[in-house]
Amino acid sequence: MSGIIIKSAEQIEIMRESALMVSRTLGIVAGAVKPGVTTLELDKIAEEFIRDNGGIPGFLGLYDFPNTLCMSPNAQIVHGIPNNTPLVEGDIISVDCGVLKNGYYGDHAYTFEVGEVAPETKKLIEVTKESLYEGIRAFKVGNRVGDVGFAIQNYCEKHGYGIVRELVGHGLGMEMHEEPEMPNYGRRGRGKKFVEGMVVAIEPMVNMGTHRINQLKDGWTILTKDNKPSVHFEHDIAIVNGKPELLSTFKYVDEALGNVFTTEDEFRADASKI
Ligand code: MG
Ligand code: MG
Repeated sequence: MSGIIIKSAEQIEIMRESALMVSRTLGIVAGAVKPGVTTLELDKIAEEFIRDNGGIPGFLGLYDFPNTLCMSPNAQIVHGIPNNTPLVEGDIISVDCGVLKNGYYGDHAYTFEVGEVAPETKKLIEVTKESLYEGIRAFKVGNRVGDVGFAIQNYCEKHGYGIVRELVGHGLGMEMHEEPEMPNYGRRGRGKKFVEGMVVAIEPMVNMGTHRINQLKDGWTILTKDNKPSVHFEHDIAIVNGKPELLSTFKYVDEALGNVFTTEDEFRADASKI
C-alpha cells in the first residue's frame, strides 16, 4: 500500500470509537498502576477490558508482538514486553495500547508515575506531554509533516532533552501504520502536506539524556543508550474543517489519577464526544 489514505467524516467517527476504547483502557490501567503490580498483570487487565467491550487488542500478534500492551519502564522507550517484575516506587512506566474495532485501529500511549518520582523525571514527563500538544497544534491544513516534527523537537530540545530518531508517529486507519511517517523532529515547511481527512498518531518519544538508542536481545525493547529515563505520549488526531480534532483523550486517565482535565478543549469541536 502506498500513499496517504484520506478518511470520510463517517470513517473518522468510527475511528473515534476505536481511539476512545484505547483511552478508556488507559484509564483502567491508570487506576491499577502502583508499586508491587507487574506489567503482565496490567496487560491482562487491559486485554480483558478490551475484549469485554467488543474490541480486539491491536498489538497482540501484530508483527508477532506477544501482548496487548507495550510496557516500557524507566530507560525503556517503547516496545517493552510485559513481564513478572513488579513496579517499584519511583519508576515510570510508558504504556502503549492499540485496539481494533469495526475494522479501524486506535493507538495511544501515556507515561505513568509509580508513587513519587524524582523531580527531574516529573519535568521530563510534563515537557513530553506538552510537546505532544505543541505537535498537534501544527497538524492542520496548510502545514507539512516537518512542521509537527519541528514543533515537538524545538519544544523538547529547549529543555536539553533528546528526541528519538529511529521511531516515529504514523498515519492510522484500517492499518496500524499508514503513511505518512510523522517524525518527532524536522524542519518547518518540509515533507508531505496535510489535507482534510488525514488521521495520524503523533507520539513524541523523549529522552532525558542522549537521543541515541539500544535494542534488547528480545528483538523488541528499545531503550536509551545512556540508561537515563525516556517518556512517551501518543494521541490520535484527524484534520476536520482544516484543524486538528482529537479522537483519543486523556480524560479517563486524568479521572483515574484525580488530575484536573483541561488541556484538550482546543482540539475538540464537541466536548460531548468523549
Ligand atoms: Mg503509534
Ligand atoms: Mg502506540
